[in-house]
Amino acid sequence: ISIHDTRAASVFTVDSPNVTYSNADITSKYTYRTTDVSFKDGKYSAVPKETVYDFKTERKVGKVGVMLVGWGGNNGTTVTAGIIGNRRKLEWETREGPRAANYYGSVVMASTVKLGVDSNNGQDVNIPLQSLMPMVHPNDLVIGGWDISGMDLAAAMDRAKVLEPTLKSYVRKEMAGMKPLPSIYYPDFIAANQEDRADNTVPGSKASMAHVEHLRKDIRDFKSSNGLDKVIVLWTANTERYADIIPGANDTADNLMKAIADGHEEVSPSTVFAVACILEKAPFINGSPQNTFVPGCVELAEKHGSFIGGDDFKSGQTKMKSALVDFMINAGIKLTSIASYNHLGNNDGKNLSSQKQFRSKEISKSNVVDDMVAANNVLYKEGEHPDHTVVIKYMPAVGDNKRALDEYYAEIFMGGHQTIFLSNVCEDSLLAAPLIIDLVLVAELFSRIQWRPHGAPEWKSFHSVLSVLSYMLKAPLTTARIPVVNALAKQRSALINIMKACVGLEPENDMTLEHKLF
Ligand code: NAD
Repeated sequence: ISIHDTRAASVFTVDSPNVTYSNADITSKYTYRTTDVSFKDGKYSAVPKETVYDFKTERKVGKVGVMLVGWGGNNGTTVTAGIIGNRRKLEWETREGPRAANYYGSVVMASTVKLGVDSNNGQDVNIPLQSLMPMVHPNDLVIGGWDISGMDLAAAMDRAKVLEPTLKSYVRKEMAGMKPLPSIYYPDFIAANQEDRADNTVPGSKASMAHVEHLRKDIRDFKSSNGLDKVIVLWTANTERYADIIPGANDTADNLMKAIADGHEEVSPSTVFAVACILEKAPFINGSPQNTFVPGCVELAEKHGSFIGGDDFKSGQTKMKSALVDFMINAGIKLTSIASYNHLGNNDGKNLSSQKQFRSKEISKSNVVDDMVAANNVLYKEGEHPDHTVVIKYMPAVGDNKRALDEYYAEIFMGGHQTIFLSNVCEDSLLAAPLIIDLVLVAELFSRIQWRPHGAPEWKSFHSVLSVLSYMLKAPLTTARIPVVNALAKQRSALINIMKACVGLEPENDMTLEHKLF
């Protein structure tokens, strides 16, 4: 099966009394098996539990649009050129020989999932993850968006210095015809060194209902002029500083709406975008580290049943960290410190050279091992935690090729030490662009799934905070009731096993008992 040609539903059907296919939906009855634990008489009592759910997935994907905030940036131009290149099946010359467009780095488009075991030869049958459920193909996405810099996408692609010249020459004409919509710009939220880019802005330098309405209209116009069924909006604009959480201003949905109407100075552009999307029922995903989703914003999304997800793309250093630390702690190795250095030379690095914006990144990079540490009460006493330092420096010469250097220092058997040095050259935007695609594809899919306890009268949607997006995100947004999971393998299992449940398949348990009986 070619990853490029696969369209869902043509690859497999599930033959089971628990699964029905109609023209409109795939419906499954799924038994979720967990263990209920209580503590009595000085020990745990574990009781296996079964809960039966119905899942219903709408099969019609429809025409999907993506609007990027920060479209003219490195990520925005790279993902746009990448999709055009794939759509046109482009090939181009590099000094290492010809290269062809692909979706490497996208978990949906370029990874596979085990469907089951071949009944003839006992071998695993793997299919592209993309064909597990009906999903939009990235080649079919209509792309648009906003930027405070008015440069057309071809010129912005040159400014980004990411793609090979020959490839750029093939997409230049189409990209030159793409121009970002004017955006809202509140200078206090991003670094002062970004000011000279801001030549494409909507009048007004603080939050207002006029801005919310302006952005809502942009979304509606984009939808109607392209004949779209739905639009997903993603923030890939500069990292903002944190907004202070102020009781009465952004702590509840009503207060946030009032603060916007009053032009309160602690309401950031990204929060105004989020509010516009929530009201417009367009899923909104935050790819940067700032606290766009202040409590009032999350409450507003819940109130309107709109989808939100974030924060901060998990592309290079942190992705390695959430895989490596998961391995170390689960191997019984006591990690005692992580020192992480980065230097990068793109515009993101320039913006992060300002202290308040760096602080947003520092926070999102710092909490990624907490759940793994907390889960191991053999290695760590309550409250004990490895030391963790994050440093980011702006070094123009390395451009978009960020250097991430990490030292992992751990205690092993009988007072010994293991020290791992990791040097990671991350072509930043080429790592982030496929994540943008994954976030859009998965968010769109989950907006078409409904579920309920088996037989309940009412179908429900997933919770407004789409925690299934966590695999792609550094600091997964959750609510007080949803625990944060950072471990990469767990995040992937959650995503894939929920998708499997929707088509009535068991989670992958890796037991392979069929091969183990003597
Ligand atoms: P970039 O600076 O090249 O692009 C950001 C764009 O946003 C710029 O074109 C800028 O003009 C625009 N912008 C700023 N404020 C805006 C506003 N209010 N409205 C509309 N546009 C606005 O940065 P990038 O490398 O594309 O990264 C984008 C974001 O993604 C950054 O916040 C970065 O921290 C985050 N991120 C990137 C990666 C990665 O690997 N590339 C990983 C994690 C997070």
